Amino acid sequence: NLQILLKRRPVGAPVAGDFDIVETPVPTPGEGQVLVRARFLSLDPYMRGRMSDAKSYSKPVELGAVMEGQTAGEVVASRAPGFAVGDVVLGGYGWQRFSVVGPERLFKVPADNPPLSSSLGVLGMPGLTAWCGLEDIGQPKPGETVVVSAASGAVGQVVGQIAKIRGCKVIGIAGGAKKCDFVVKELGFDACLDHHGDLDAQLDAAAPEGIDVYWENVGGKVQAAVFPRLRDFGRMVMCGMIAQYNEAPGADASGAPPGPNLGPVVRKRLRIQGFIVSDTGWARYGSFRTQMEGWIAEGRLHWREDVVDGLRQAPEAFIGLLKGANFGKLIIRVD
Ligand code: NDP
Repeated sequence: NLQILLKRRPVGAPVAGDFDIVETPVPTPGEGQVLVRARFLSLDPYMRGRMSDAKSYSKPVELGAVMEGQTAGEVVASRAPGFAVGDVVLGGYGWQRFSVVGPERLFKVPADNPPLSSSLGVLGMPGLTAWCGLEDIGQPKPGETVVVSAASGAVGQVVGQIAKIRGCKVIGIAGGAKKCDFVVKELGFDACLDHHGDLDAQLDAAAPEGIDVYWENVGGKVQAAVFPRLRDFGRMVMCGMIAQYNEAPGADASGAPPGPNLGPVVRKRLRIQGFIVSDTGWARYGSFRTQMEGWIAEGRLHWREDVVDGLRQAPEAFIGLLKGANFGKLIIRVD
């Protein structure tokens, strides 16, 4: 079995030396378990949190243990009722080729059509995050203005398209012209602003009316620019703040001030709420998938994946994710 382990806890941005790549025997499933051979591994920003032993909503990966992650693959041995050899499943575990898992949170999914990798992106955890967060917290209404940061990424691309389906004006924020072009031309957002430029001026021009819903994926200077433009009764969906994951609490890589003055929250009656997709998301996976597949069939939902070949490439690809090197949902094709 090829496995990638956490060797040491990173200080600041992770480096290749924080990981170990090892070959070990293929595990055997116990009673009630299945052995999954991964075809795809999802790489996600939350993994930076698991590398740290700071207090969080979930336990850190132990030093020397396999890096946490979700895979999609094929059942190659089963001792669990309801799963047979050859079943294609979402829900294998870890940065490794073979994993032994229990049936909880194991979903049978189509082998192709849509392609299996989509079960880790638009039809997987990131898509589910977008769907739940909009439904539960953002609650966009027709005619409202919605701003989405990290708009070309796994979560952001789905958030913006669902908001368009809901009849909103949707403005993305992304890093660079290529990503912004994709967000407008391929995903159909009304505009996309480049956070390397003057975001204040771009926001004034694109949303002179102000912002009703801000989907927060980034934090730092992007948040500082968007927050003062929220309208009365605006909602801020606190999904993640990737710009701050490698930094000391409250800081941003650019050295920008830690965040906005929250005074206007009262005056504007704003709602700022965080959430974790696993709180209630997986229990709703069936209805999520049905609705999303409907939109895909109607041609209303598009997506982009950034697929990197080879499990051994996972550390470098993950390091890049925290700097914006990915373009679309980052996925490893497991060799
Ligand atoms: P993405 O596919 O969006 O990839 C990350 C993107 O973030 C990069 O491509 C880059 O886009 C942007 N980025 C990275 N570093 C910085 C930086 N220093 N400053 C500004 N932008 C940066 O990732 P996901 O869609 O998987 O995740 C998006 C967010 O959602 C993350 O914050 C993640 O933690 C969060 N999340 C939260 C969940 C929850 O349950 N609450 C579940 C899943 C994700 P660009 O080049 O455009 O800047």
